[in-house]
Amino acid sequence: MTVKKLVTHPAEVLEQECERVTVFDKKLEKLLNDMYDTMIEFDGVGLAAPQIGIARQIAIVDIDDESGTIELINPEILEVSGEQTGPEGCLSFPGVYGEVTRPYFVKVKARNRKGKAFVIEAEDFLARAILHEIDHLHGILFTSKVTRYLTEEELEGVESE
Ligand SMILES: [Zn+2]
Repeated sequence: MTVKKLVTHPAEVLEQECERVTVFDKKLEKLLNDMYDTMIEFDGVGLAAPQIGIARQIAIVDIDDESGTIELINPEILEVSGEQTGPEGCLSFPGVYGEVTRPYFVKVKARNRKGKAFVIEAEDFLARAILHEIDHLHGILFTSKVTRYLTEEELEGVESE
């Protein structure tokens, strides 16, 4: 179990385009395992590699539902539809929460830790979490999409990505 140090805003690595992964090896598996441990330790529902200082297109999402842990390497958005507005937080912005509008549905193509391509469809909160993490891989932070910041009373039950 290895918990990595979280990179919090402001940091250059959080606002840059991440490099695509080309080598799927043991080091990548270790990194994914470390990202999982880190996400759990900090009680997040997702984590992107730049959040632990690595500018590569690797993200994980786990909203604690039947989907389990979704590992997204070099993810590409194939399709989005609908709209949802809800509270969002980010492990790189401790204590900051705001309302963000995102598509309700997303279809994404990505690779798993073995390099195998797969397509995943998600909606509602899972779609929100996936889109939040994919944004991280392109240097886009949720604060650029917040339409209204939330007060402490409004925060109950909001989890960070
Ligand atoms: Zn985030």
